[in-house]
Amino acid sequence: MTIPYPSVVRWIGHFQEVMAENKEYLTSLDSAIGDADHGINMDRGMRAVMTKIEGLPEGDIGTLLRTVGMALVSSVGGAGGPLYGTLFMQMGAATKGKSEIALNDWADAVDAALKGVQSRGKAEPGDKTMVDALGPAAEALRAAAGNGTELDAALKSSTEAAREGMEATTPLVARKGRASYLGERSAGHQDPGATSSYLLIRCAEEAFSNQN
Ligand code: ADP
Ligand code: MG
Repeated sequence: MTIPYPSVVRWIGHFQEVMAENKEYLTSLDSAIGDADHGINMDRGMRAVMTKIEGLPEGDIGTLLRTVGMALVSSVGGAGGPLYGTLFMQMGAATKGKSEIALNDWADAVDAALKGVQSRGKAEPGDKTMVDALGPAAEALRAAAGNGTELDAALKSSTEAAREGMEATTPLVARKGRASYLGERSAGHQDPGATSSYLLIRCAEEAFSNQN
């Protein structure tokens, strides 16, 4: 079972809708430990993405994802824009020239995304960032790809892992980004970026499951 190009397009479109639906929610999470703009940033960025990918010639998943990343970098400021931009650009580099991807390729892409975010933002697991949702998702996919798990089950396990990682950010004290300025007062709130990253992984499961 593989993920064909149109499913990747569907994933991006679905993530845009989910960012629009969760705009207020993500912004309210960011109002507790940041500057109340994460939902606004993600919604604006994904709207810009949809315009940019509209006329793209079909076929190369790498080009598609790189275009998504570049649209985010150029339309979103703050920490989120460059971090999500890097995430998608690294995914694009990992899937360059492919018109369909297998579970192993998807695991590589999520791994590349994680590494990109970490090299850009220098966050380690447990710093209360996007990394806390992306890391467990990448690990779950890597494990599934290594032991012959079916694609649908692997995707489900990545959503579960990302959800647990996101929930585990609540008690943490932030060590990166704006939330770190609050010190101990950042504890007791779920991280907005980990929440959007969980939604990103969940959207992939929803777009890539049950397709062949
Ligand atoms: P800003 O903090 O500039 O207002 P956003 O509100 O869009 O940007 O994004 C905030 C989110 O960005 C945080 O919840 C956190 O998950 C993520 N983040 C911030 N700094 C880093 C970093 N250095 N590495 C990884 N993620 C980070
Ligand atoms: Mg913010």
